[in-house]
Amino acid sequence: MSGIVDVTAKGPRKLTLAQKLYVPEILAGLSVTIRHLLRNIVAIRKLPTILYPEQKRDYSGRFRGKHILKTRDDGTLKCVACYMCQQACPAECITIVAGEHPKIAYEKYPVVFDIDMLRCVFCGFCVDACPKDAIWMTRNYEMAFFTREDAVYSIDRLRESPEEIAKHGYGYRPYYPGDGTTPPADAALLPVVPGSGERDQLREKSVPLPDRDPGPGPLNAPSQAERPFSA
Ligand code: SF4
Ligand code: SF4
Repeated sequence: MSGIVDVTAKGPRKLTLAQKLYVPEILAGLSVTIRHLLRNIVAIRKLPTILYPEQKRDYSGRFRGKHILKTRDDGTLKCVACYMCQQACPAECITIVAGEHPKIAYEKYPVVFDIDMLRCVFCGFCVDACPKDAIWMTRNYEMAFFTREDAVYSIDRLRESPEEIAKHGYGYRPYYPGDGTTPPADAALLPVVPGSGERDQLREKSVPLPDRDPGPGPLNAPSQAERPFSA
């Protein structure tokens, strides 16, 4: 019959005497291992592997590693808690709780901004979705955790730090014309003129609005470490 391979015709392959004794075959296998071992010891610099952590591979400038939350000149987060990144995230690993910013021009800020690094698939969609240039990624891939709770990074670990950037460098981030890294003028960076926001204008017209926070509040609260973990 053409086109059909008869696999039943052949019986089991007969072993030679050396194969039946096993020892010669084991020695043959060991000789291959020892040959590679000696060759690698003699020519260790030619090894195709990286001696991590002493050596580190130089990854692309658009590598998708740990996220950072960018800050304004006054040190507050550029994030305005719009939830766009949370909506875009396919892994549903971003948790945001918005608070009302005392500066009218900013409107909102994230009281809680958590990313569960164990669920994150490092796709960069959150960076693409952000309208405020507030979340970038770095080339930092050195994330290790002992507990699931430890894998949930909150603002204190996501806030951009010069030390982290100096050590790992920026990774995936919005691409801009020019050098590719300089964002265009951002309204959120402009000086805030008190009373220029919509809320104050509406108040002047006696439009009823929900109560504001009485004071400045814990702007960009440094840590939500005490927050109970929810799976
Ligand atoms: S990189 Fe992707 S999976 Fe990770 S937080 Fe951003 S959108 Fe979600
Ligand atoms: S990081 Fe950007 S997209 Fe996400 S909530 Fe903040 S401003 Fe919105």
